[in-house]
Amino acid sequence: MNSLNMLRQVPLLDLSREIREMKPQLLQAIEGVLDSGVFIMGTQVKEFEREAAEYLGVRHAIGLNSGTDALVIGLMAAGIGPGDEVVTTPFTFFATAEAISQVGARPVFVDVDERTGNLDVERLEAAVTASTKAIVPVHLFGQPVNMDRVAAVAKKYGLLVLEDTAQAFGAEFRGRKAGTIGDIGCFSFFPSKNLGAYGDGGLLATNDDEYAAKAAMLRAHGSKVKYHNEAVGFNSRLDELQAAILRLKLPRLEEWNESRRGAADVYRELLDGVPGIALPEAEEGTKHSFHQYTIRVLGGKRNEVQAALKRRGISTMVYYPIPVHRLPVYEALDVRLPTAERLAGEVLSLPLWPGMDREVQEHVASQLIESL
Ligand SMILES: *Cc1c(COP(=O)(O)O)cnc(C)c1O
Repeated sequence: MNSLNMLRQVPLLDLSREIREMKPQLLQAIEGVLDSGVFIMGTQVKEFEREAAEYLGVRHAIGLNSGTDALVIGLMAAGIGPGDEVVTTPFTFFATAEAISQVGARPVFVDVDERTGNLDVERLEAAVTASTKAIVPVHLFGQPVNMDRVAAVAKKYGLLVLEDTAQAFGAEFRGRKAGTIGDIGCFSFFPSKNLGAYGDGGLLATNDDEYAAKAAMLRAHGSKVKYHNEAVGFNSRLDELQAAILRLKLPRLEEWNESRRGAADVYRELLDGVPGIALPEAEEGTKHSFHQYTIRVLGGKRNEVQAALKRRGISTMVYYPIPVHRLPVYEALDVRLPTAERLAGEVLSLPLWPGMDREVQEHVASQLIESL
């Protein structure tokens, strides 16, 4: 997309530059897989798993079919199931809670921190009961949760920590990669994520040999040895084409995340002090991966502002318009979490992608200011 057209119509995410830049290598990698004749569980997946484990600094990385499956398989591998309670955030994509329910456990929602939208670690301990078995923090929009506080509660009560790192591949908390601090980290390669495939894909990361072995077994119909199924599992493999694509993209991830942080700095420079909005800010000691640049529009004007931006050709998104505990599927829980409910009415994610032109950001910022 050239920059004149871009100013007329600004998308939320523009992957066209990345695809244009990498197309020769991508086509070559795809051709390599076609020529190999191996499409499932071949060398591309094995090599990608090794490279991802090395990048993350973990013993095991297991390629799966999606981030959702990584959550389900991770919980199941750790033995979470019926009768168990799992403490998590209501301000997330539905898949986080869906996975907990999918394994037969009960999600217990804790209200969030107004500044980050992340699970409020100060309220975590009060949610723990005799049935609590795990905590599932979500590094929302790429901002790592305070994992020291999560770990302290987990240690005190002997709980599993499974990180939903779908939005935070490459983000860091005190020098450690998000998704490698708890017992299990779950990643998504949905195309719009920081490390995106060109289809579905996911990854489970862990330092625990037993969880890794179980997850590897569960992704292949519960079998370690073909046709010797030991458990009821899933068909949830990352495929060779996606793995080959991800192997090309992984070495660029640090640069892309740095570019996202640079774009976030530009927005701050352009929007700092503008009345009626609150800007995201990376928490101290963390490296934000800025999967989304999500502002808050105050004074009940969010929907109005979003509509005005749309008329001006600027795409934005509301992540998430309904907190998970208020979705029809969880209506019966009948809980009220005021901060999450308020944020759902305030948040607005602005266009952001690696390599975004400053000119486009200036346009977005000026249109936003005029729309307020
Ligand atoms: C994208 C996402 C998921 C699900 O990942 P899929 O690969 O789409 O299944 C789970 N949790 C969060 C927070 C996400 O953003």
